[in-house]
Amino acid sequence: MDKLEKRIGHLVLSNLPNNLLILNQDDEIVFINQHMASTFDYTTNELMGQKLQMLIPTFRRNTNPEKPPVNSQNLKPYKIDGGFETIGLRKNAERFPVVLEMTSFDADVGNLTSVVIMDATMHREVQEELTTKNELLSLAEQLTQVGHWQWDLTTNEVTWSENLYTLFHQSRDGQLMYDTYFSYVHAEDKEYVAGQVEKIIRDKKFYDFFHRIKTGNGLVKIIHLSGKVFTDEKGEVIKMIGACQDVTRQKDHEQKLETFNQTLELKNEELKNFAHLVSHDLKEPLRTISAFSQILFTEHFDSLDKEGGELFGLILSATSRMKQQIDDLLNYSLAGTKRTQKLTDCNVVLDDVRKDLALAIDEVAAEIVIEELPVIQCYESELRLVFQNLISNALKFRRHKTKPIIKIYASLIDDSWKFSVQDNGIGIPLKDSTKIFQLFRRLHPYHEYKGTGIGLAYCQKIIELHQGKIWVKSEQNKGSTFYFTIPL
Ligand code: ADP
Repeated sequence: MDKLEKRIGHLVLSNLPNNLLILNQDDEIVFINQHMASTFDYTTNELMGQKLQMLIPTFRRNTNPEKPPVNSQNLKPYKIDGGFETIGLRKNAERFPVVLEMTSFDADVGNLTSVVIMDATMHREVQEELTTKNELLSLAEQLTQVGHWQWDLTTNEVTWSENLYTLFHQSRDGQLMYDTYFSYVHAEDKEYVAGQVEKIIRDKKFYDFFHRIKTGNGLVKIIHLSGKVFTDEKGEVIKMIGACQDVTRQKDHEQKLETFNQTLELKNEELKNFAHLVSHDLKEPLRTISAFSQILFTEHFDSLDKEGGELFGLILSATSRMKQQIDDLLNYSLAGTKRTQKLTDCNVVLDDVRKDLALAIDEVAAEIVIEELPVIQCYESELRLVFQNLISNALKFRRHKTKPIIKIYASLIDDSWKFSVQDNGIGIPLKDSTKIFQLFRRLHPYHEYKGTGIGLAYCQKIIELHQGKIWVKSEQNKGSTFYFTIPL
């Protein structure tokens, strides 16, 4: 029976699916199972009687002061190590990570040590992968100004990610509790945050919300808190995970942008009112001057000499010019206000413009070529005035003794329509190609070419209102092409 038991014991140990060997006091292998031998690519026979150093080259007895001596006189088996990682050496000299566990016990043949060796390659790989993932997470948290926490409601245990400590300026030592987070919540937001947490637990659903904190170094930050709630099979909340993003800078920018927009809106409104007022107030006395000089001119025409007649002519032309300037300025200041964009067929718009300019076109026998144009979303009447201004200019700045030919076409480039208005007129010097878009900027004296210098500034304002751009390419004495874009 005793023999049978021993044989069974030997059989079980030999075929154990774990790595097991037994050492005598001299660290010689007195038993080794099949599994252990093949882990190191040996046969059991090759290892019997060998020193453990053959498999674990760094193995030394009692090198770790925390480990009790193996050959102590304890009678009961006792663990001499809870597992430490070292390097194993296979028969082909390949090294691999192993974890050792040793238990000592006294037998009739003296003190023996059982050694269980686990191949830690997988463990090491998983560990390394975990470390890399943790490093990545930590980096991502740093870059996005995010930190996260976990709160186990069953044990009340709280953990914080590295970056949460940094965001909150909380020291790493000291026990973390639910209250630790709460202690940083800004005094004025505490009630709100407590209410939100209650709501989350009650509804078992994480609502994301913003609150302020006062960090360990006294800074006030705005936090965007979002997360997830975990429940058990009974539906009780057992765990919560929260991500805190520091959005102080974004909020600050948003705030500044809002204030800026409000100021801009106010200034625009003021400017609009100012321009409107000025235009109307200027028009009134101008109308009086114009009317009285007209009466004076008609009623006293006979008593005027040649110079007097010429002077009157100048007064009348100056007043009508000023009236035109005021009207253009009014148009300019009101451009795009109180209007909404609508789907517009540019072919119809150009048809209308052509009809409106029919007299001027016929007068100079101009040829207008309009290619197929798109249907776009725009401020229709403003766009009509853009085409009207550009075509009027093309007619006005024509070349002497040259039949004006004006071409209008459009093409889709990326996500914008690009319109072109091309003429064969006098052209524009390169140095002036951006200046002409400024208000009142003209390149010719009034007696040569009539105009107010507002037309192109108006066009630019309208195109910018559509988030587009306007520019000109020109060659003197050859012609100019005005381009503008309207994004889709
Ligand atoms: P206006 O036509 O009333 O003078 P604009 O603002 O429309 O004012 O144009 C500004 C200036 O740009 C014009 O005075 C002219 O010198 C120049 N310009 C505009 N369009 C053309 C063109 N098609 N060809 C040559 N010069 C032009």
